[in-house]
Amino acid sequence: MLQFDTIIIGAGISGLYQLHKLRDELNLKTLAIEEGSDIGGTWYWNRYPGARCDSESYTYGYTFSEKIYKNWTWKEKYPKQNTILKYLKFVEKKLNLRKDILFNNKIISGKYLEKKDLWEIKTNKNKIFLCKYLICAAGSLSATNIPNIKGLKTFKGKYYHTGRWPKKKVNLKDQIVAQIGTGSSGIQVAPEIAKIVKKLVIFQRTPNFSIPARNKKLTKEFISNFKKDYEKIKKRLRKTPGGHTFSFPKRSVFDFTLKERNKIYEKAWRKGSLSFRACFGDITKSLKANKTASKFIKDKILNTVNDKKIAKILTNFDHPFTSKRPTLNTNYYETFNRKNVELIDLKTNPIIKITKKGIKTKNDNYNFDKIIFATGYDALTGPLLSLNLVGKKKTKLKNFWNKSPKTYLGLMIPNFPNLFVIQGPGSPSVLTNVPVQIEQHVEWITNCINFLNIKSKKSIEATLGSAKKWSNEIKKLADASLFMKAKISWYKGDNIPGKPKVFIPYPGGLPRYRNICNKVEKNQYKEFLIK
Ligand code: NAP
Repeated sequence: MLQFDTIIIGAGISGLYQLHKLRDELNLKTLAIEEGSDIGGTWYWNRYPGARCDSESYTYGYTFSEKIYKNWTWKEKYPKQNTILKYLKFVEKKLNLRKDILFNNKIISGKYLEKKDLWEIKTNKNKIFLCKYLICAAGSLSATNIPNIKGLKTFKGKYYHTGRWPKKKVNLKDQIVAQIGTGSSGIQVAPEIAKIVKKLVIFQRTPNFSIPARNKKLTKEFISNFKKDYEKIKKRLRKTPGGHTFSFPKRSVFDFTLKERNKIYEKAWRKGSLSFRACFGDITKSLKANKTASKFIKDKILNTVNDKKIAKILTNFDHPFTSKRPTLNTNYYETFNRKNVELIDLKTNPIIKITKKGIKTKNDNYNFDKIIFATGYDALTGPLLSLNLVGKKKTKLKNFWNKSPKTYLGLMIPNFPNLFVIQGPGSPSVLTNVPVQIEQHVEWITNCINFLNIKSKKSIEATLGSAKKWSNEIKKLADASLFMKAKISWYKGDNIPGKPKVFIPYPGGLPRYRNICNKVEKNQYKEFLIK
């Protein structure tokens, strides 16, 4: 049985950087195990038509190496899925990581051997490994959710989930296609496939707020400037709550007249970016201020969509803007002006079942060649639970988290010593520009392991007390935010039947979170149980 100092689960953005840090800086015998046949994580699996990042390219990537930052050239405002994959391959090559990655192996179980202070993990290819430290870098949005709709197994056509899109080209030309789900993925897929399919029927449960992306080619001047500004950008990304270059101004919606306010919204709308929510400091904090942004977006949609009935369904919002993840789009609303696109409002015409030939709703019966599930993920906790982890005293993670995920800083779990989580529940993760949070986590974990090794320690474990305090901190911050005003939100586990209904990520912003983590490190991890 092969033994390693550290095993990393996943070879996406986080797994690759973690492998580099542990192998090349701490000289630890490290292996990354990846379910896919190549690196990339999220960007390996999400190959659906239109897949693109919502963070601006020059802010989306590693900043730990000036050389890597400056030697890669982003050419578009928002990078496409395969561009990000190329970027990650470029980084992987520079750091020579591939030789320490085992591909095509999915972890099916992990057990902490208390007497040996080792993790024993098994893969679906019957490989068993031992390691002292186990690091979960499996992503926050990797456990796909295909809703349990009656009859799916009887469907004679093919169906796909956006987050597990096949490598082989999916032929959609002249096909009759159903798309279920209108979140970030669905909003990107629809305009792309509407251009090639014979007919696209979109099933919407809840309308989402979406801002135009206004993707464009970057000018030579812009590219040269962001490379020149490397240090400035790196610092900036660490200072803002979301790890983007924009932060929230002090100005309130109510410091301005309606005309002035709409001018500010209009400018941001024309620019197109997630920074629309930062037009004013109170959009994400006060319902009254938020209503002005929601109304602006609603009016834009009503003005874009020709059919008034469809426009109404697309704007029948049941949540304030930003209480769910805001999305960016390229011609999403314009897509509903096409003759080959139909919108079904699941609120009034729910799906009864999937049939051999298609989908039966309360009012209609549809035939489809293909069904696309853009139905999201069992976010944050799902990837960890799928590993079937058993910690100290035979504690199963599934049981330990049955009422809520319990972590300290989102980084470690009581009863699960020497298991570190990157981007896990209880960390800012999905509320940030992800690579910024990833770098912070990887660097914290590396420093912690270095500390333990220098001090010849056997194990580190989060205490129940600190996990309880951390959950309370998250609850307090979430309760004071607009996030809790969303009726169905994957941030709170509402999208998965039976999932505990608690706010999952840490909503206090990256700088505040980073400070807390830094203090814990400076304090030599006193809050943890160290043996
Ligand atoms: P999502 O935001 O969870 O959206 C899932 C969609 O499926 C929602 O419209 C949801 O409706 C619908 N749905 C779920 N279960 C359903 C059911 N049983 N019946 C009918 N409809 C159902 O998932 P996603 O679009 O894949 O995005 C997830 C996250 O991934 C994003 O929020 C973002 O963080 C990330 N992402 C980012 C990008 C990007 O950067 N461009 C692209 C894709 C994804 P409800 O709203 O009613 O729940």
